[in-house]
Amino acid sequence: MIIVPEKEIAGLLGRAEAFEAVENVFAAMASGQAYNFPVIREAIGHADALYGFKSGFDRSSLALGLKSGGYWPGNAEKGLTNHQSTVFLFDADTGRARAVVGGNLLTALRTAAASAVSIKHLARKDAKVLGMIGAGHQSTFQMRAAAEQRDFDKVLGWNFHPEMLSRLEETAGELGLPFESVDLDRMGAEADVIISITSSFDPILMAHQVGPGTHIACMGTDTKGKQEVDVELVAGATLFTDEVAQSATIGECQHAVAKGIVSRDNIIEIGAVINATHPGRTSESEITLFDGTGVGLQDLAVASAAVELAIRKGVAIEVDF
Ligand code: NAD
Repeated sequence: MIIVPEKEIAGLLGRAEAFEAVENVFAAMASGQAYNFPVIREAIGHADALYGFKSGFDRSSLALGLKSGGYWPGNAEKGLTNHQSTVFLFDADTGRARAVVGGNLLTALRTAAASAVSIKHLARKDAKVLGMIGAGHQSTFQMRAAAEQRDFDKVLGWNFHPEMLSRLEETAGELGLPFESVDLDRMGAEADVIISITSSFDPILMAHQVGPGTHIACMGTDTKGKQEVDVELVAGATLFTDEVAQSATIGECQHAVAKGIVSRDNIIEIGAVINATHPGRTSESEITLFDGTGVGLQDLAVASAAVELAIRKGVAIEVDF
């Protein structure tokens, strides 16, 4: 069995590898080659932790396994990241344990890759202004991955906690892009692509604020009850997601589906666009919305890539198991 420790991931896998792995697995999901198993997420009644599994199997790459982990709110006091995850891969031919891979950085890379895939396939080609809603840990990964997909000339930022906006400003600066903190009216009117990556439980961006032709990637809503945008905005957009079942139950579309104003049939798997079985954006004026709920297959895809790279670069730890 192979172990790839968390500390090795940064030296192995970059945005390009994560993007390729995630784009491929979304395509495999839409062609029926890959599927996710039902998600388990439980409050375990200890250390205020939320713990769970995301798992699946990709017949095209033979990635089989699960990501196990969750949220431990007291970790920061111990000098640890609150979100903790580890990916376990199994040999699809024998069921033997194949690898254990640190999953914290991989989660950020695969989540940013998902919105970048959506921007590649759904944003207008002439998109110039990137809007960021959210300035937490994930936000810098999101901005960096997005910046590689279009020739942006400016970043606009808004955050519920304005004191955190300096993080976005610094990242934009590192990318050589001017940054402006704006209100949500300006964000919606000026941004061609908007990424939301917050832990909000209430709508932040409203339908009347968003101009025609915008692409929105809602990346923060991954749990029942969370919400980042107004249901009317969801109802008026052409809807895409990583997985329809998750979108309708734990993703951004959950509220519009629960209210009966959007049906599951209206939500398109992004993989269909990648596979060219769906045209994606069909006009310069439509609003496209990608509901990135985060699927286990993304984790397996990037972890498999990390294992291959670790073996190639000689940093994989091999143990008899
Ligand atoms: P973080 O704790 O570092 O940052 C949280 C962000 O949410 C900050 O911008 C904060 O200001 C904002 N926020 C907090 N309370 C808010 C409120 N009441 N209203 C509006 N905004 C609020 O978290 P992070 O690691 O950056 O993750 C952000 C979100 O992304 C989390 O909800 C996390 O569960 C989600 N996430 C999704 C995926 C996926 O695949 N879709 C993957 C990883 C994380």
